[in-house]
Amino acid sequence: MSVPLIALVGRPNVGKSTLFNRLTRTRAALVDDLPGVTRDRQYGRGLWGERHFRIVDTGGFQESSSEPLAQDIRQQAMVAVEEADAVVLVVDGVAGMLPDDQVIAGLLRQAGKPLVIAVNKSEGRLGSEGVWDFFALGAGTVVAIAATHGQGIDDLLTAVFAALPVAPHPDALVAGDPEVGLRVAVIGCPNAGKSSLINRLLGEERLVSSAIPGTTRDTIDTLLTTPQGRTYVLVDTAGLRRKSRVTQRVESFSALAALKAIDRADVAVLVLDGVRGVTDQDQRVAGYAVDAGCGLVMVVNKWDLAGREPKAVEQCKDQFEQSFPHLEHVPVLRLSAQSGRGVERLLPTLDKVGLACRQRISTGILNRWLAETLVRHPLPRSAGHSVKIRYISQVSVAPPTFLLFSNHPEEIHATYRRYLENRLREAFDFSGTPVRMLCRKGSSNT
Ligand code: GDP
Ligand code: GDP
Repeated sequence: MSVPLIALVGRPNVGKSTLFNRLTRTRAALVDDLPGVTRDRQYGRGLWGERHFRIVDTGGFQESSSEPLAQDIRQQAMVAVEEADAVVLVVDGVAGMLPDDQVIAGLLRQAGKPLVIAVNKSEGRLGSEGVWDFFALGAGTVVAIAATHGQGIDDLLTAVFAALPVAPHPDALVAGDPEVGLRVAVIGCPNAGKSSLINRLLGEERLVSSAIPGTTRDTIDTLLTTPQGRTYVLVDTAGLRRKSRVTQRVESFSALAALKAIDRADVAVLVLDGVRGVTDQDQRVAGYAVDAGCGLVMVVNKWDLAGREPKAVEQCKDQFEQSFPHLEHVPVLRLSAQSGRGVERLLPTLDKVGLACRQRISTGILNRWLAETLVRHPLPRSAGHSVKIRYISQVSVAPPTFLLFSNHPEEIHATYRRYLENRLREAFDFSGTPVRMLCRKGSSNT
């Protein structure tokens, strides 16, 4: 299914990040997001009823400021708007309408995207007069919300989804078709070596590659076939194949392109610059891939340079472990896209992660594993009653998702679920794939 991208735009301090947290938390309530991996995000996913959405917080949008930084942020915001399927203009209901709101609304009208105006800080006066002033912006539906209190969020999402075009996104027709082959997104910061890696793969004599029609207007995917007939679809390789003609773009674009590619992929290859080290952007994108349920392989590139110094190797290892806590299961390949050294391990590793993502474990084996694991590390007693996990079953793949049935599901803490996840990863090979553990009340057949 294609997941719409919603951009939050507005002046600084109107409450965009508060709203962002509120919207992405709707999902955390259902799925235990990995703490540490997903903190400090600019991009996230949310779930409203059955509907998934992606969200980007564009940061401050200070229209009247001529400071270079503000202009840069503004440029990034406009790129986000271009990429988005719908835009939420957040305004401050207490401050009322300010000239900057009008200027931003004007820019957004020109962009022609479905637009909803969220009048934030409206707690206790959701129906009040002031809210309607913002109709004067003449740009889309107006909804009163209070991000800190969680008020009006349902109305906001109703308006956003109503504003989205109804036609199915072309991605929906192609994404996830297992017949085509494993869908792989090569992502990473500018200059990490993504193009070099793709070109190296395309240049391998034993591999046959062909460009296949993009699923959206300006995307090109590449079909890669091995002599054994295994196929991979490298998603969204347009810019990466024709690197020389692509001008350097703002960082946010590469991040957004990465998010779009992740949403269409089974496995993401995060290319890290072995010389520069891990960046914030790398951490965010990795967190996003995990949230999206996408498999992950990390490539530490430029190993020809970094590998020369033993000290650099150690530093890189330390930094890596600190940067990606909870991602110990993700395979890390050190290679050189330039010399080709180590690149031959990439496709077999992708196969392995692809299998892990789709692995299904029978209920009998799972419950035997659960019984043994519970004996080794019993659940702590809680508030005078004993908490029991009675049963486990796997409810889906890609990512593998498990349902635990308990008499007190609310008392199974995230740390214990993480313990179970780690034991599960030890017992069965789930390298590179996120694993979800959900808890429900009941015993086996409820
Ligand atoms: P951003 O700069 O647009 O991302 O704004 P923030 O999310 O950082 O919020 C700016 C300030 O507004 C913070 O002090 C928030 O606590 C406050 N704020 C956000 N949402 C609400 C709300 O619904 N009601 C009230 N009263 N304050 C809010
Ligand atoms: P992209 O922006 O991620 O697509 O990065 P490019 O593939 O364009 O590479 C950026 C720069 O890094 C170019 O100058 C490449 O020649 C260089 N580069 C890429 N891979 C390697 C590598 O393995 N070793 C070295 N030494 N340089 C590399």
